[in-house]
Amino acid sequence: MHGLVLGGLALGLLALLGRPRAAPAAAPPSPAPPPADWPPLTPAERALLAKLHPDMQTFTRRVLEAARAAGLAPRLISGRRTCAEQNALYAQGRTSPGPVVTHARGCQSWHVQGRAVDFEIPGGKAADYARVGQIAKDLGGKWGGDFKGFFDQWHLEYHPGLTIEQACPDPDNCKDH
Ligand SMILES: [Zn+2]
Repeated sequence: MHGLVLGGLALGLLALLGRPRAAPAAAPPSPAPPPADWPPLTPAERALLAKLHPDMQTFTRRVLEAARAAGLAPRLISGRRTCAEQNALYAQGRTSPGPVVTHARGCQSWHVQGRAVDFEIPGGKAADYARVGQIAKDLGGKWGGDFKGFFDQWHLEYHPGLTIEQACPDPDNCKDH
């Protein structure tokens, strides 16, 4: 019985192998995908990337690559910050003039941890920012457009499995990395 079944299988396999291959269907013409480095990173963007945590560098490059493949061209405008820079931002709208732009002081910012970037899309609409945000989320990151009470569509961060409390147990004791 088993021999018969196996024999049948073998015959079936032979029949499959012997079958002439169907001619490949003509693929519809599609535009060539943009090169991964389109548009090229500017020297400022390269410098910004180089200062990020290595995981964040990889994540950011993958987001840029996927966004560019989708026809979007986000530019990096901000990356790692020093403790002093973050504290100056935190003071804004509190003890110094201007609108409140952050709820994080010192090492509470993923920017200080080297695990956040801000981007802009020249001429981009809200939906374009949301698309980049979705790409980032698909790659395991977080998008500032999802932040409750503080819409930050320009912001991406990547720190899987790490909370800011773990990364920054003492905001009064911020150390530059
Ligand atoms: Zn940011």
